[in-house]
Amino acid sequence: MENSSDNKVRTRVAPSPTGDPHVGTAYMALFNLAFTRKVGGQFVLRIEDTDQARSSEASEKAIFDSLRWLGLDWDEGPDVGGDHGPYRQSERRDLYEEQVAQLVETGAAYPCFCSAERLDEVRKAQMANKETPRYDGHCLSLTADEAGARVDSGESHVIRLKVPTEGECVFEEELRGEIRIPWSQVDHQVLRKSDGFPTYHLANVVDDHFMEITHVIRGEEWTNSLPKHLLLYQAFGWEPPKFIHLPLLRNPDKSKLSKRKNPTSVFYYKDAGYLPEAVVNYLGMMAYTLPDQRELFSLEEMAESFDFSRVSLGGPIFDVTKLKWLNGRYLREKLSPDEVLERLKGWKLNDSFLGQVVPLAVQRLETLADFAPMTSFLSAAEIEADAESLAGKLEPAEAARIVKVAEWEFEKLRDWNGEAIAAIFKRIAETEDLKLKQIMPTFFLAISGSTVSLPLFESMAVLGPDLCRSRLRRALSALSEAGHGLSKKGLKALEKEYQAKYGARPD
Ligand code: GLU
Repeated sequence: MENSSDNKVRTRVAPSPTGDPHVGTAYMALFNLAFTRKVGGQFVLRIEDTDQARSSEASEKAIFDSLRWLGLDWDEGPDVGGDHGPYRQSERRDLYEEQVAQLVETGAAYPCFCSAERLDEVRKAQMANKETPRYDGHCLSLTADEAGARVDSGESHVIRLKVPTEGECVFEEELRGEIRIPWSQVDHQVLRKSDGFPTYHLANVVDDHFMEITHVIRGEEWTNSLPKHLLLYQAFGWEPPKFIHLPLLRNPDKSKLSKRKNPTSVFYYKDAGYLPEAVVNYLGMMAYTLPDQRELFSLEEMAESFDFSRVSLGGPIFDVTKLKWLNGRYLREKLSPDEVLERLKGWKLNDSFLGQVVPLAVQRLETLADFAPMTSFLSAAEIEADAESLAGKLEPAEAARIVKVAEWEFEKLRDWNGEAIAAIFKRIAETEDLKLKQIMPTFFLAISGSTVSLPLFESMAVLGPDLCRSRLRRALSALSEAGHGLSKKGLKALEKEYQAKYGARPD
């Protein structure tokens, strides 16, 4: 596709504020920005918080902070305003209501009253027949009057998109060319949930239209949703934007990048001492090559040469070892020693960080010289976990179970402080019918590498959630490499047990 020189180009990144700020969001923001800068357009940050149960203000703030740390700034967004706001979907509900009502009126969408049980039966029958599970259109047989009366009487319902029964959806994807998807594989998508909230599909299309987005640049996992989106554009009588789907980041084993196998939170990389420009460069390398093939490049350099024909569609592997190598090159080749010193100060060699560490160490110091070795685990990215000693006072298999439970519990903790951390350990000990004394050596070893160390809860508070969770994951892999890991079956059983004892597991 040619890069248009039209300065009305408008792009957006549209993350959901759930969990940690994901490197995948930064990757999408980077490619959107490189293209937008090239053509002199506007880049929008939209917060897709229609899933109220999973969305949080803390996650939203983390999105802002992480993108800013990386230097991936936006022209319009919830915190900077703009002419196309509000930029949070939860503040645009009236608009979605109006739009969905219009779809029902024109017959492009319809109310559906089917119970969860019925939908489940239909799905099971379709699976047994080896058909693509999808809604069977049952409520389409209701007349408009019947459906209207049931809606008016307050009966619980969703609104679904009406999908053609025959033929196929043929569309152009800018990087892949023509794509054909039979309508029989497209579900009658729920557009408005029974709680009145729009689903991603409705809100996303409505917003892209009203925010005048000209190029939707997003992950390839959305390609299969395009028929639904195009159907919506058609039903509204709107011209669709151009669609560009970037290849998904992958783990070294080629599976979709996941936090179980690789840290995915941008803040992990910040806390582990990576430079933002190296992270941005690495994300760029995932699917872009500069005309002169140079490996070290900035957003500005990427933008200068940006052309979609240079985007590669292979499954890019996000490999931390490669990122570390690239980061080293930045430290050696791009920064002077004085600049490195400044970076160190900005990172952890500063009063704010050391001021938190000194009170933890002071009781154990004999000389000032003890300080650096005693506290080194607080600035290291990772520490070596020795599988044999990791089990501490527990049986190794029991240690693996408890560490896994702790990993889930800490993932749910949004307010990261010493007291809350202590409360989690106490809860785990009580729930597992163990003494705190029995479980703590394992965690001391996993987090600090030693059983004699600084107070653990406060140390974890200083280390932060990302480094702590990554150390727990490393401890688990060390146990599993030594033959004490959780089997697939064991993990499934533990998930169930966790659900029953501690509540919902984090995603
Ligand atoms: N909220 C969606 C996500 O989190 C946005 C996808 C899109 O860009 O359309 O991936």
